[in-house]
Amino acid sequence: MRAVERLCGLAAILLAPGCETPTLPLSPSEADLPYDFRLLLPVAVGDSAAADMFTFHWGLGATVPVLVMEASDPTRPSLAEALSDASAAWNRAAALGEVRLREAADPGRAGVLLVWADGPRAVRVPDDCVGPATSGAASTQGCIEEGRDEGGAPVKRLKRWPRADGDSTRIALVVTISSRPGTDAVRLRRLVTHEMGHALGILSHSPNPRDLMWSGLIPGDTLTRADRATLRALYHARRDLVPP
Ligand SMILES: [Zn+2]
Repeated sequence: MRAVERLCGLAAILLAPGCETPTLPLSPSEADLPYDFRLLLPVAVGDSAAADMFTFHWGLGATVPVLVMEASDPTRPSLAEALSDASAAWNRAAALGEVRLREAADPGRAGVLLVWADGPRAVRVPDDCVGPATSGAASTQGCIEEGRDEGGAPVKRLKRWPRADGDSTRIALVVTISSRPGTDAVRLRRLVTHEMGHALGILSHSPNPRDLMWSGLIPGDTLTRADRATLRALYHARRDLVPP
């Protein structure tokens, strides 16, 4: 499942290894513990470049509306059905109501867009976003700008993606599914569930091949104890990358 860039995402900056690039497995004793959910971002240190880790999540207790744009090809499996299954899995994992995914009934309120790579697009990449190259089975992309939190402290913030006609939206993350042959409903459900993990803020990959958020090919479509624990740990962690 996996998308291609590790961060499968956050575009610009998110450079990360591919969602289909396996990492080394952990020992069994570590298997059920939360794994690292932070995003590795390049930063400038003086005149040189370095990297730092950033934590992103939506507000604690937030509902994240996801806008779905289906393919015009009627033989293509349904993104909405895959999202429904993915949302149910992640919503169950957020046992204390940390966050909820739901399909957006109102496109104007969506925070995440779910589309096929060859399908219609409701938004375009923000002008000053360093364009991400996305490839592979799926990706989750965002663009980052410098901002201030409620207390005036500097933070990094996801940008809103404009509509093609230039009007603003509330969309901060775009999940794109490749239209490769062989993407049936089962594979699509796995891809969308994995990418929704990124969209919720798990911006790296599990080192355990059993986990849905592993970086290699996913063996199943069930969230493991570690996937669920990671989501809960994320939403109780201090964030330094915030939604628009
Ligand atoms: Zn991934």
